[in-house]
Amino acid sequence: DALGPTVCVGEILVEIVATTVGNGFLEAQPLVGPFASGAPAIFISQCGRLGGQAAMVGAVGVDDFGRVNTDRLKRDGVDISAISIDPDYPTGSAFVRYRKDGSRDFVYNIATSAAARFGWSGMVADLIDRTGHLHVMGSALSVPSARAVIDKAVDIVKARGGTLSVDPNLRKELKLDEDTERRFAKLVAAADLLLPSGEELERAAGVEGEAEAIQRLFEMGVKEIVLKRGAVGATYFAHQGDRIDAPAFAVQEVDPTGAGDCFGGAYLTCRRLGMSPQQALTYASAAGARNVTVLGPMEGAGTRGELDAFIASTERRP
Ligand code: ATP
Ligand code: MG
Repeated sequence: DALGPTVCVGEILVEIVATTVGNGFLEAQPLVGPFASGAPAIFISQCGRLGGQAAMVGAVGVDDFGRVNTDRLKRDGVDISAISIDPDYPTGSAFVRYRKDGSRDFVYNIATSAAARFGWSGMVADLIDRTGHLHVMGSALSVPSARAVIDKAVDIVKARGGTLSVDPNLRKELKLDEDTERRFAKLVAAADLLLPSGEELERAAGVEGEAEAIQRLFEMGVKEIVLKRGAVGATYFAHQGDRIDAPAFAVQEVDPTGAGDCFGGAYLTCRRLGMSPQQALTYASAAGARNVTVLGPMEGAGTRGELDAFIASTERRP
């Protein structure tokens, strides 16, 4: 971490979860929350909990939902100096209810909330000038405020010798406009570490087939790829043809939200702390698995001690 903290840019939200399974929110029902959330916030929370230097760029409103997030990130050891407080808009929120088949209904307030209203500021510039690693979610490219910050930050961080990780976080079917697609491809090509999940691998590579996609991404300039496969586990790929498969830990899934972000935050932090890909994969798999055993998007993010205890006491899936 000598070069400076890991920084994540993007949406900060609270999540409020229906306690029963069923369809949507058309009638009054029991809910639990607010839980601190937002994919970039989950990622950086896991970085901080593992003892990595970490900082977040984003915005919240002047309300308790904002405090839930800033208090939480501060407690996790995350530098919140570049999280702005929007005087006019409320903190972003997502209401979620799981259906019987595992799919979800959402009611979002993101685009018209503080979550989507931040930009380049003095505080952001100060942070980016001392950033060692930048983590970007592909989904942030469709939010204009996040995009403006990311565009500048990538150039500055790379120019000072820092590194970049990218979680494509884009459904395969999602079509971007030409300009956003070009930005996305540029970001992928600049990634030292790519963290796709399932079909996002092929989406990011622009070709079909796992092996073909991996090869294409290395040709584009990606240095290291870790493919997330949910309850099946994860696989590390390196340029030289190295490959490590990490079976998932056997856990009872309570809330799948946040697994990928905890996994990514843990993997990146462990690598930045000097661990081997194998060791980082073990911590990452533990971080993802542990998080799905707890209700709330980042409530199960573990400290180093918690993850060591989890690894020692949990079987791998066969
Ligand atoms: P998200 O669903 O949060 O968007 P993602 O799709 O990016 O996440 P996943 O592949 O779902 O990422 O999860 C990341 C990692 O977490 C997996 O590779 C695995 O190691 C671990 N993991 C996820 N779900 C489970 C599970 N049910 N049991 C055990 N480990 C899991
Ligand atoms: Mg998943």
